Amino acid sequence: MSRTIFEKIIDGEINAEIVFENSYVIAFKDINPQAPVHILVIPRKKASRMSDLKEWNADDAGNFFKAVSLVASELGLDQDGYRVVINNGTNGGQEVEYLHAHILAGRQMKWPPG
Ligand code: AMP
Repeated sequence: MSRTIFEKIIDGEINAEIVFENSYVIAFKDINPQAPVHILVIPRKKASRMSDLKEWNADDAGNFFKAVSLVASELGLDQDGYRVVINNGTNGGQEVEYLHAHILAGRQMKWPPG
């Protein structure tokens, strides 16, 4: 299977505007932002989608979600709030087959989502 664009970002083959990284994740600006702040957080350990996460051990899964929380905090989003979205599969609207969490902020989010 061909490598996704996010694997190429992890390997440094494609540039991204990285805002945070640690040993578990890389976070970078979405190229097509849907809010004033739109960050993607991807785990260094590969999973194609959220459906695959049940195969991960709790430490790896926890470190991914903990990093999402940390990124939002480091970006100063805790007080005003933010939305985390993980699209999964066709009906979920997932385009890139590499697990990623969207952090959206900087405006009032609506519910229900589209
Ligand atoms: P999803 O629809 O959940 O799979 O989201 C994929 C996201 O990746 C979209 O919001 C795209 O705008 C974003 N995206 C695609 N290519 C890049 C890239 N090279 N750098 C940053 N974001 C990207």
